[in-house]
This record gives sequence, structure tokens and C-alpha cells, in this order.
Amino acid sequence: MRMILTGLPGAGKGTQAHLLAQFLELPHISTGDLFRQHIADRTELGQTAKTYINSGELVPSDITVAMVRDRLGANDVASGFILDGFPRTVDQAMALDELLSDTLGPLDAVLDFTVSEQTVLNRMLARGRADDTDDVIRTRLRIYNEENEPLLHHYSSILCSIDAEGEVEDVHTRVVRALGERLSPSRPGTN
Ligand code: ADP
Repeated sequence: MRMILTGLPGAGKGTQAHLLAQFLELPHISTGDLFRQHIADRTELGQTAKTYINSGELVPSDITVAMVRDRLGANDVASGFILDGFPRTVDQAMALDELLSDTLGPLDAVLDFTVSEQTVLNRMLARGRADDTDDVIRTRLRIYNEENEPLLHHYSSILCSIDAEGEVEDVHTRVVRALGERLSPSRPGTN
């Protein structure tokens, strides 16, 4: 199963992707984590990405898409993957669609985690990552609000909306239920 996760920064995509990856035994691919690994390893890509990440801007798509293309070339994605934090723009989505149609096959689902801005602000300030400061968070929220609606429109035919308020385990249960419904929609009169 090939899927992507979208939602506000701090919506809990990373946490849910991790749980879902264990549940479905699929690799969890987070562009934020890949960038942070590059930064920790002091690679050239990491140095470039860092300036964008620290100001809350998106890393340019050519860099991001090349990194994802590289990751999706690994053997462990043959039976599927959970992409967390990519694509974030329609441009990235079109690049991903093209890449997948040439190789692994189309996406099965887009999980959109819906949550209030107040909740994500509370979560991010509690988390306290280097890019979780007030003004950087504001930039990330603004960019998200500009980019996400067209992205969801692009994927409207495979979109599943998940209520991401509340406890981690409850959200996970909602995700599993939504995927079950998406993969085997109950047809009236057949059960
Ligand atoms: P969050 O979703 O909370 O913003 P992430 O760890 O997913 O956290 O991303 C952290 C930062 O990494 C983003 O603010 C952005 O600078 C960069 N980034 C992650 N994914 C992408 C992407 N698909 N395109 C461009 N930049 C990205």
C-alpha cells in the first residue's frame, strides 16, 4: 500500500506514520527526518536544507524531489510506503505521480490529518524542536495554509480525512478504520 500523509505542522503525522508503519510493516519515509539526518551528517544537501528549515520555508522542490526519488529507489518500498511530509505542493505531487507511474505504481490513499491551529501550536511549543519557535511556526503555518488546499484538491479521489484531535491511540484507531473502509468499502446488500 502506497500512501501519503498531510496535515498541519504538529498535527502528529510523524507519530501516526510511525504507528501505521509498524502496523502495516511498511517503511516510514519522512522528508523532515531525511533532511534532519542530512543536517546531522553535515552533508552538502543538509547545509542547504538547513537555511530553509530554520526559517520555516520549504526546501526547494528540485532538492526535495531528488532526495525522495533516491529514497524510493531502495528495495524496501516494493510492497508500499508511508510518505510523511511529502508532497507538500502540487508541483511536488506531480513530480511524485510521474515518478510512481514510471516505477512503483499509483498512490492508494492520502490521509489528511485535521486539527485546529491552537492544538498544533500547543503541541509544537511542548515539543520544542529547533524550528518550533514562534515566528518560524507562523511561517510554516502560513505556507501550509497556502499549499495544502490545492494539494488536497489534486488528490481528491483518494483522500481520507482523519480527525487528529485527541489521544495518539484514538487517532491511530481512526486511521486504521478509515483505511479499512477505503480498501474494502462495504457495499450495500453484499454482507
Ligand atoms: P512539520 O510538518 O512539523 O513542519 P517536518 O519535519 O515534516 O515538520 O518538516 C520540517 C521542515 O523540513 C519543513 O518546515 C521544511 O522546511 C522541510 N520540509 C519537509 N518536507 C518538505 C517538503 N516536502 N518540501 C519542502 N520542504 C520540506
